[in-house]
Amino acid sequence: MASLLNPYSSLLIISTICSVILILHLRVIMGIRVLAERCTGCGVCVKVCTLQAIKVIDGIVSIDPLNCNLCRACISICKSGAIEFKVEKKAPVDLAEYRGVLVFVEQRNGRLMDVGLELISCGKKLAAKLEVELQTVILGKGIDGLVNRLKKTGVDKIYVVNHKLLENYIGSLYTEVLVRLIKEYKPEIVLIGGTTIGRALAPRIASRLRTGLTADCTGLDIDENRNLIQTRPAFGGNIMARIITPNHRPQMATVRPNVMKKETFVPTSDCEVINIDVNLSCNLMERILEVVKERDFRVNLEEAEIIISGGRGLGKPENFRLLEELARVLGGEIGASRACVDAGWISSFHQVGQTGRTVSPRLYIAVGISGAIQHLAGMQGSECIVAINKDRLAPIFQIADYGIVGDMLQVVPSLINKLKYAKDHTCDCSK
Ligand SMILES: Cc1cc2nc3c(=O)[nH]c(=O)nc-3n(C[C@H](O)[C@H](O)[C@H](O)COP(=O)(O)OP(=O)(O)OC[C@H]3O[C@@H](n4cnc5c(N)ncnc54)[C@H](O)[C@@H]3O)c2cc1C
Ligand code: SF4
Ligand code: SF4
Repeated sequence: MASLLNPYSSLLIISTICSVILILHLRVIMGIRVLAERCTGCGVCVKVCTLQAIKVIDGIVSIDPLNCNLCRACISICKSGAIEFKVEKKAPVDLAEYRGVLVFVEQRNGRLMDVGLELISCGKKLAAKLEVELQTVILGKGIDGLVNRLKKTGVDKIYVVNHKLLENYIGSLYTEVLVRLIKEYKPEIVLIGGTTIGRALAPRIASRLRTGLTADCTGLDIDENRNLIQTRPAFGGNIMARIITPNHRPQMATVRPNVMKKETFVPTSDCEVINIDVNLSCNLMERILEVVKERDFRVNLEEAEIIISGGRGLGKPENFRLLEELARVLGGEIGASRACVDAGWISSFHQVGQTGRTVSPRLYIAVGISGAIQHLAGMQGSECIVAINKDRLAPIFQIADYGIVGDMLQVVPSLINKLKYAKDHTCDCSK
């Protein structure tokens, strides 16, 4: 009995001084297999596997694909030749067959997610550079109203898949429908919002299509060879990687909400709507039993116009009360750096940054936050940034529009008093 384990794509990494280009190089699929008829169960290979991926079960070796990193140490140690490394070559893809930019527009409870509209704005620029169509796809039940809204966004084509089983997100069904659609219409680029749904859906589709996917892109562009340049923070956010998928199609990317700017849409008269009929049956593996609404204490940072964020410089969790008072006066929400979340000062719903929320309020006040690149990744799209920090050399001042050097324990109360005074003494000319 022989089984192929752990197929994965190889990455060729070319590094430059301050940025990295990763090429998703997917022509070969690699795996490790055990030839059970040759295995004597001696257990020698178990000892060399530092990842504890090998177990001897009933006298025969079994390799756990989730733990194995394909280091191949077990292959050379096995005198019986019972472990084999296999490289499977894939036929090259005809890149010319693929045309167009496709945006998956997510809807929930009959509401279009903003990130879909942000991706349409970004997709338009990519499509214009490539001189191809901008296509969208929407899945759901009874979504005519949403299709009418989409028509006003100036896209060239809308694929509509209307089915009662697609009313709510079910991973296997959404994947099946989108894989079929992509195989049939062959877009060269597929963009998906980096929401909870998008993050689950995109890898499933990419793996079914055996193509590259870059998650959480912060920038998208086209190079001279029509490749999609997918920029995202890498290695802990210390460098920006530029990733291309030169050998496979479609090129897939997810982008988190608020990363791309939503533009004012100009409708076109010749938007084509294509209704796709699908034959779906109830899935035994996944079924929606109940939809539970998000808990009320979740803050809606993504849509907040004003955010007051606190960092380790607050000194202790109780000092968030000062920020809450400032937020009340200004009508804003509370954000936080990861340092505060990790310290247990505030819940992770408030975290702004690379591993938290991406926000773009009109006003972002960073209090006692140093300005680490991972924090900036989540808030640098803010319209106006005010930083309060006692260290005048703190990196946050480099991106701040206004900086206040001082102890937050003095600056914040004084700001609150001044704002309250200004509010109380503003002349209401209508009286
Ligand atoms: C993979 C990875 C992902 C990450 N993701 C995130 C993320 O999503 N979000 C995030 O925020 N971080 C993230 N981080 C952590 C990030 O690198 C920083 O460690 C973190 O942002 C630092 O938080 P801070 O600015 O609150 O704390 P510090 O860096 O300790 O800064 C505290 C600041 O407060 C100032 N200060 C001190 N006392 C006062 C005072 N009394 N008044 C005014 N100012 C004062 C100090 O001068 C200092 O500048 C991530 C890190 C990694 C490796
Ligand atoms: S070293 Fe070879 S023969 Fe021995 S248990 Fe491992 S795979 Fe089997
Ligand atoms: S290839 Fe390496 S990680 Fe995988 S089972 Fe063998 S020794 Fe362990």
